[in-house]
Amino acid sequence: MIFSDLQFKLNSNLKNILGKRVSDKYVIIECDDWGSQRMPSSDTFDYLTKKGLDINDGRYNLYDSLENPEDLEALFFTLKKYQGSDGSSPVFTAFTSLTNPDFIKIKMDNFNNYHYYNLDKSYDLFSNSKRMRELWRQGVSDGIFVPQLHGREHIAVQFWLKQLKKNNQDLLDGFEKGFVFVKDKTVSQTIRNFRAELYYENDQQKEFIRKKLFDAIVLFKEYFGFNATAFAATNGIFDSDFEQVLVESGVSYLASPLFPKKETGKSRYDGLIRKFGQIGASGMIYYLRNCAFEPNGPEYKGIEQTLQQVEAAFRWDKPAVISTHRVNFVGGLSVKNRESGLNELKKLLSAILITWPDVKFTTVELLCKKESIGS
Ligand SMILES: [Zn+2]
Repeated sequence: MIFSDLQFKLNSNLKNILGKRVSDKYVIIECDDWGSQRMPSSDTFDYLTKKGLDINDGRYNLYDSLENPEDLEALFFTLKKYQGSDGSSPVFTAFTSLTNPDFIKIKMDNFNNYHYYNLDKSYDLFSNSKRMRELWRQGVSDGIFVPQLHGREHIAVQFWLKQLKKNNQDLLDGFEKGFVFVKDKTVSQTIRNFRAELYYENDQQKEFIRKKLFDAIVLFKEYFGFNATAFAATNGIFDSDFEQVLVESGVSYLASPLFPKKETGKSRYDGLIRKFGQIGASGMIYYLRNCAFEPNGPEYKGIEQTLQQVEAAFRWDKPAVISTHRVNFVGGLSVKNRESGLNELKKLLSAILITWPDVKFTTVELLCKKESIGS
C-alpha cells in the first residue's frame, strides 16, 4: 500500500473517533449548490474564454448550471431505484441558495446596491418555475430530495459590487453575459471568484451578512413553505458569530469541518475540534461530513474511496455523511455530465447496499431526532 493510501485511511478513521455514537448504519447524502446559477450557457463559457477571462476552474464553470426539470426527474428516478433496510430510498439533502443577481437592476443602480431574483424568477429565466415547484414538492413528499439552507446567494456580494464599481473590465464582461465568478487576483484569496458568501473584512460587512442570512431564512420559508433546519456555509467559510441568527430562526444543525477556522480578514484557526453531535454555546448542533463523492472531480478514481470513508464511519458507529455537489448531477450544459454522474451514483448506492445490507438512508435532522441528539 502506498503512503497516500495509508494516510487517506488513517484520516478517514481519525475524524470519526470522537463524537456521539449512533445505533444503526446510516447514510446521509448532502449535496450543495442548488438554486444558484453558475454558468448560464456553454455559449457564455466559450465567449468569455475566447475573450481571455480567467474562468477556468476545472469542472464547475464547464458543467455547473441552474438545475432544470430534467435534472430533478433523472435524479429522482435514480434514487427511487434503491431502498435501505427500512424501505426508505436514498435522500439527497439539497443545500440551496435562494436568489440570483438581477443584472439589469444592479446595472441601473450603477452597482451601488445588490438586487436579486428569487427562485421562481431564476427558474423562469432558464426553464420552468411551475414544473420546478412541482418537482421540489414531490421530492420532499417522497422523502428523497429535501432542501436545506446554503445561503441567500452563492456570492460575496459586497466584494463583487465593489470591484464592478472600480470598472474591473473582466468582471464587467462577465456581468454583461450574466456571469459573476470571474477570478480577480486583487481581492483576498478566499473570495477570489466571489463564491464565499459569508466572508467579511470589517464590522459593516459583517452586519450586511447577518442581514443576508436573515433574508435567506425568510426566502427559504417563502419558497418551500417550511423552515430550514440545517445550514452549510458556502465554500465552508463561516464565523460562529453568525450562529445566533440561525439558531433563533430555527436552524439547529450546522455542517462543520473537523477544525473550524474563522475566515474573516485574516484566516485563523481557533484551536477547536468539532465532533458529531456536539452542541455549541449558541445551542447549534454540529456534525461533520466525513465522506466525499465527487464523480466529475479531478481526483475521482471510482467509488472505492467513498466506500472506504463509509466503512470508517461505520467502524466508529458514526453516520456516513457523504458530501457532494450539484455539478456532478446536472445536464444544462452537458447532458453527458448528468448521465455519467448518475451512473457513478448508481454504482455507489449499489455497492453500499451490497456491502452493508442493513444500511438506512436518512437526513441529519431525522437522524438527530431519532437518536435524541441535542434534546
Ligand atoms: Zn456551495
